[in-house]
Amino acid sequence: MLIIAGFRIFQFYHFRRLNELNKDFNTRAFFASVYATSITWGIGLAYFMLQPGESASHLVMVTSTAGLTAGGVVAFIPAWRVSVLYTVFMIGPAVITMTITGTHLPVVFLFLLYGLYLPIIASRGNREYWDALENEHLLKVKSEEIEKLSRIDGLTGLYNRKYFEEIFNQQWKTAARNVIPISIIIGDVDYFKTVNDTYGHQAGDAFLQEIARLLGNIMKRETDFIARYGGEEFVILLLNLDTEETLNLAEQIRSEMENLRFPFEGQHISATVSLGAASCIPGKQSQKEDFLKTADEALYRAKSMGRNHVIFSDKTVNPPDPETRN
Ligand code: GH3
Ligand code: MG
Ligand code: MG
Repeated sequence: MLIIAGFRIFQFYHFRRLNELNKDFNTRAFFASVYATSITWGIGLAYFMLQPGESASHLVMVTSTAGLTAGGVVAFIPAWRVSVLYTVFMIGPAVITMTITGTHLPVVFLFLLYGLYLPIIASRGNREYWDALENEHLLKVKSEEIEKLSRIDGLTGLYNRKYFEEIFNQQWKTAARNVIPISIIIGDVDYFKTVNDTYGHQAGDAFLQEIARLLGNIMKRETDFIARYGGEEFVILLLNLDTEETLNLAEQIRSEMENLRFPFEGQHISATVSLGAASCIPGKQSQKEDFLKTADEALYRAKSMGRNHVIFSDKTVNPPDPETRN
């Protein structure tokens, strides 16, 4: 028993390292030590119960065996079979020897009852344990699903405005920390009301989905972020692109939209898009809200120039630091 206890203490303190070495062997060694403890105790008890006299010590042994067995069964509830084997090893040898020799038969009877009762308790506990674990897992999966869904726009499958705010904040900080440019493109479909009025709201919905696909096909880098900003407005965040590259992408969107002929119920829907873009390396003084505003103003200018335009904001959101100003 001392040797097994020594092994268990060693295993307890080095569990993680032993698991890294050989997890399977470590687990088997753990269960082997559990069985070895119980069978050693069981044989010891059988031998002890055969000794004449010593009725007070017999009583102590019987009650401590009952207590230890119950403790083991509860501890191994997640592995129900281990609980059953543990019970058998703890009281089995004593039950057999006492039955054969005809000694302490009332104790044999009580042990048998106890040996039936414990596995039933273990089985019920086992069911409850795994049910609770499964419920916890399901809850986690569901809450992850809900969180994911709360970021997505139901119609287009793009990210929604709420999540855009979150990512904008993150990317702004990333750009500032790494001193790299962040670019934003805001697009608004031109005369979209007319699309709805001409082809119907359903066609308008399908067309918005097609635009989302078109944007997804153009923006392919992992850090490119596209969201539906409003009804027929889209916003794109790009990291580490210079002014020209941003402008080229915005121009590509404009031109692909211009050429898009979306088939819907025998007709072909088309519409142009106006885009405002801005790019900057966030400095200490710059505010992301000002940056967003510059892109929005550029979009407004694109609209007022007759739509189907890309306007790049020339406004700076990086006023020089006061201490470096002449
Ligand atoms: P412009 O932007 O060029 O000034 O004209 P517009 O007609 O696109 O502008 P406006 O903002 O007045 O109209 C936007 C329209 O977009 C109005 C609304 O009916 C439509 N819209 C917004 N969200 C949805 C949607 O989810 N589905 C459909 N089918 N239409 C939508
Ligand atoms: Mg609009
Ligand atoms: Mg519009």
